[in-house]
Amino acid sequence: MIRTRSLAFCYSGGQPLCFPDADVPQGAVLLLSGASGSGKSTWLSMVAGLVAPAGGQLEVAGQSLVGLSQSAADAWRARNLGFLPQRLHLSPALTVFDNLALAYWAAGVTLDRARIQECLTALGIHDLAQRKPAQLSGGQAQRVALARAVLQRPQVLLADEPSASLDDDAARDAVALLQSTSQSEGATLVIATHDHRVAALLQAENTGKNGTQPAQMLRMQLSKTEHSRFGAQAIKQGEGV
Ligand code: ADP
Ligand code: MG
Repeated sequence: MIRTRSLAFCYSGGQPLCFPDADVPQGAVLLLSGASGSGKSTWLSMVAGLVAPAGGQLEVAGQSLVGLSQSAADAWRARNLGFLPQRLHLSPALTVFDNLALAYWAAGVTLDRARIQECLTALGIHDLAQRKPAQLSGGQAQRVALARAVLQRPQVLLADEPSASLDDDAARDAVALLQSTSQSEGATLVIATHDHRVAALLQAENTGKNGTQPAQMLRMQLSKTEHSRFGAQAIKQGEGV
């Protein structure tokens, strides 16, 4: 779950960024839309506990992130949150398997080889475990980064522009993968994007496959100007962005 109230952030020397309120129940999907520069990545960074808000309230996976020390936020993030960044940050010198193993080390958690194999298999990339990132296609590298994000069964999964620079087929695959992975893990999913294709793709994929219920879908629009933005609202069937 994610709950925000009057959330604000200020880059040094910049104008304050003020965000609409969000209430995202556990297991729901939030489409965070808005033009480039409207604050999507900043909002994700706050929700991930990477940066502290300048003001307001922020609760993620049952934890208030306001006033938390950076080390406490780091420990909380490692246990509760998966992040698929726009730039994937895979270590080029390490194999796919070791990139995932590194995530356990970074979190100070005992390595779980079986869980790494399980995630690689679930994402269809188990045969790539011994490759280096330079030997992967863009889509394969994104799957590795997604495996890393869900490795420790996060309650909340954040994806920043996951369809950027992907063609239509690859964008559909990326959205489907995020949705099926978060649903099978019971995680709340947030996709931040300025890509108009994603709302339609999310709806098309939200059919409740494998006997599961379709996830509740919300959309929040950010804007540089107050009047053209809105807080988290339910996405209605057939609505585009
Ligand atoms: P989006 O992800 O929607 O493109 P961002 O969250 O990256 O938007 O940026 C929101 C605003 O904050 C923009 O005006 C951007 O220029 C500014 N900004 C982003 N990062 C920094 C930074 N590190 N320092 C100063 N300003 C920044
Ligand atoms: Mg961004």
